[in-house]
Amino acid sequence: MKVGIVGGGQLARMLVLAGYPLGLHFQVLDPAPDACAGQVAPLIQGDYHDVAQLESLAAWAEVVTFDFENVPAEAGRALEGRVAVYPPTEALALAQDRLSEKTLFWELGIPTPAFATVDSLEELHNAVLSVELPAVLKTRRLGYDGKGQRMLRTAEDIEPAWQALGNAPLILESFVPFACEVSIVAVRGRDRTTAFYPLVENHHRDGILRLSRAPRRMPELEQEGWDYAHRLLDRLDYVGVLAIEFFVKDGRLIANEMAPRVHNSGHWTLEGAETSQFENHLRAILGLPLGSTAAIGHSAMVNCIGDLPGLAAVLAIPDAHYHAYGKARRSGRKVGHITLWANDPGAVHAGLKQLLPLTGFNLDEFG
Ligand code: AMP
Repeated sequence: MKVGIVGGGQLARMLVLAGYPLGLHFQVLDPAPDACAGQVAPLIQGDYHDVAQLESLAAWAEVVTFDFENVPAEAGRALEGRVAVYPPTEALALAQDRLSEKTLFWELGIPTPAFATVDSLEELHNAVLSVELPAVLKTRRLGYDGKGQRMLRTAEDIEPAWQALGNAPLILESFVPFACEVSIVAVRGRDRTTAFYPLVENHHRDGILRLSRAPRRMPELEQEGWDYAHRLLDRLDYVGVLAIEFFVKDGRLIANEMAPRVHNSGHWTLEGAETSQFENHLRAILGLPLGSTAAIGHSAMVNCIGDLPGLAAVLAIPDAHYHAYGKARRSGRKVGHITLWANDPGAVHAGLKQLLPLTGFNLDEFG
């Protein structure tokens, strides 16, 4: 079976690595000649708008999927007429714009922070009155890992934030004083069979995910998250893996954003679940039976941002699994992750105490 992937970053790379044992074949389309998935699968170097390249991928593949949501919607539509494309490009288009994403959540009864659209300084002043401070001003499009965001604490922050971000369409969201952040990773097959991974707890620093722990046994929150995921999957007639990130406040979930793809907070499933999110995404889009999403033991996943810790130092930690993405080191860039996996939660805790200092953090900072 032949799978085309639009986007050749680490998510595509891990999809490919999960697909080889199933006997799958891959081609990856990415504008960058050194896209890291190109180390493990044939790379078509081409622009996402390049119709000839998209057509060649569509002609070769039985199904096409994406490794990131900012693939131009026209690229998805150009493919849709020629080959099976999952997830649906409507899901991509909705997730590309924080306003349409939050509006969709709202329509489906999924709680979000208060929000208002902002296209002028005057609208920003009005939005501050309705949303109230503290609030976060965000670009509607192309923001990720905390980029394109400014915190507004007092009225003095309004004009500088507008100066910094005002040349793009914006959204103002109330700041949520959350107790913690969690995510749900869900998967839906072509026959509409649906499965959910256990709740994951996530810790971000400077807007970038640093640490995920799973499974987090908070049954009521987990049920709430699965319910919200179900609503989205049904509404979007979704096929593939979908992740939703939430804030937890007063024991309830508030949706932050969704990702119509495999997700960083699901990387622990490579070691820590019966079937990884990568394999289940492939099974879903190919119309194969889904695998069990049950957790095995306890997992923690630590992101390597900018640089990789030494291989020998990490492998000296019992239960540590090293995943380098084959990317050049660069400040703020995700270049790998390390999973700690054990049957005993105490062993994961002990491993984290050793591992986090190698990535510039201490366990105390994450509680
Ligand atoms: P985002 O790019 O929107 O996922 O934001 C990255 C991170 O910034 C989130 O995971 C939170 O830690 C923080 N953040 C973003 N929006 C808010 C908000 N409205 N209230 C509190 N924290 C936020």
